[in-house]
Amino acid sequence: MRVCVIGTGYVGLVTGACLAHIGHHVICIDNNADKVALMQSGQSPIFEPGLAEIMQAAMQAGNLEFTTDLGAGVAHGEILFIAVGTPALPTGESDTRYVEAVARGIGSHLNGGYKVIVNKSTVPIGSGDWVKRIVLDGVAERQQTIAGFDVVSNPEFLREGSAVFDTFNPDRIVLGSNSTKAIAMMRKLYAPIIARRFAEDPFLLPVPVVETDISSAEMIKYAANAFLATKISFINEVANICDRVGADVTQVAQGIGLDSRIGKKFLQAGIGWGGSCFPKDVSALIHTAVDYGYDAQLLRKAVAVNERQKLIALEKLQQVLKILKGKTIGLLGLTFKPDTDDMRDAPALILIEQLNRLGAKVKAYDPIIAQTGMAHGLSDVKVESDAVQLADGCDALVLITEWQSFRKLDYAKLGEKMISKIIIDGRNFLDPEVLTASGFQYIGIGRPTHK
Ligand code: NAD
Repeated sequence: MRVCVIGTGYVGLVTGACLAHIGHHVICIDNNADKVALMQSGQSPIFEPGLAEIMQAAMQAGNLEFTTDLGAGVAHGEILFIAVGTPALPTGESDTRYVEAVARGIGSHLNGGYKVIVNKSTVPIGSGDWVKRIVLDGVAERQQTIAGFDVVSNPEFLREGSAVFDTFNPDRIVLGSNSTKAIAMMRKLYAPIIARRFAEDPFLLPVPVVETDISSAEMIKYAANAFLATKISFINEVANICDRVGADVTQVAQGIGLDSRIGKKFLQAGIGWGGSCFPKDVSALIHTAVDYGYDAQLLRKAVAVNERQKLIALEKLQQVLKILKGKTIGLLGLTFKPDTDDMRDAPALILIEQLNRLGAKVKAYDPIIAQTGMAHGLSDVKVESDAVQLADGCDALVLITEWQSFRKLDYAKLGEKMISKIIIDGRNFLDPEVLTASGFQYIGIGRPTHK
């Protein structure tokens, strides 16, 4: 099928490249000309495992093109994906100005046959009809007759760090629309993925397709992220109680996670959730509730618990080091999770800010930032190029991101470089016995301290 994807970030580029990989002819649009030039040369502007490879293969097969020309993309596509960002406004509401600009642009270029316009961006409930109206406004301005279009809400559930895998192995595909014709085209588009032709295990049952009205599809995305964020806040709350009573939250999580009604995923206690989706999506849902006269108390508390949790490493540093002024703290990892270069709303940012405020010197080593040299939004932190350099002169280390390579570090060697051998494991990721054998005082989240 002929596809146009507008917005080539983590979602748009992965969606475009994966759809091209399964045989569709895809044109990806971005209004960032530098980014488009980079992609035209076969390079991915983001770090996402496997992405550059499928991009290059699809480009060589002639299935994937990049341009800034929205008109060309709209003329080409029978299916037009809107995949631009929807960040949070300072009020917590979703900033839909990029979606609006794209919808208007589509309207002013719409021509040819029937088209399906897909909201892939996470947009507030009610955006389906809103997008339709903006597109129609754009069409009306040109006083043109068009063959017609429908809007589909097709929220995205991929995880940064495994986005390509997730696109080929989704748990479900959600299609929200009141048009059977549009749904049929979306099913055709996704048929190879639904049939698991590109899945890791092709013998699994087909991917479930959830067909809903537009509002329910939009709500599914918010509810899913709000649930996952709340689940993490829940286990962090349990961890904080474990800390006080001397229980070990990793054992507690195992014990409750084996209950199939609970499930073991998203029960890892740590320094809080962040990233480009959970914070903004939970606050947007809280805001939507307020708009409709409802106080979403549970969600507000999930956010409050998370805000406090982002400072848990600081609290533990103060307990063990007392005065932080003049001390040097080394952060192992910066990104909000491993296998991504995304720093948006990463818990590390608030920790860095607070450590600086208290007069500590902050250094950090993150494998992806060391590799790409990208350190967007990072100030007041010295970024080191390896873990040994990081450890040099540190009073304590704090593990921020659970990069696999951090399990394999030579902690005895790191310890030799440090002023005091203290590690706060902000993700309960390291083996306390390995650390104590290397002479470290190991402090986890919600688990007893090991000396
Ligand atoms: P992003 O910020 O990485 O990418 C957005 C892209 O859109 C940028 O490249 C930007 O240049 C481009 N853009 C902005 N305005 C444009 C315009 N008028 N025309 C063309 N291009 C334009 O965003 P993202 O992380 O890919 O997220 C996109 C949407 O998907 C958001 O609504 C987000 O909530 C949702 N989502 C994200 C994830 C994720 O893990 N990142 C997962 C699921 C859903």
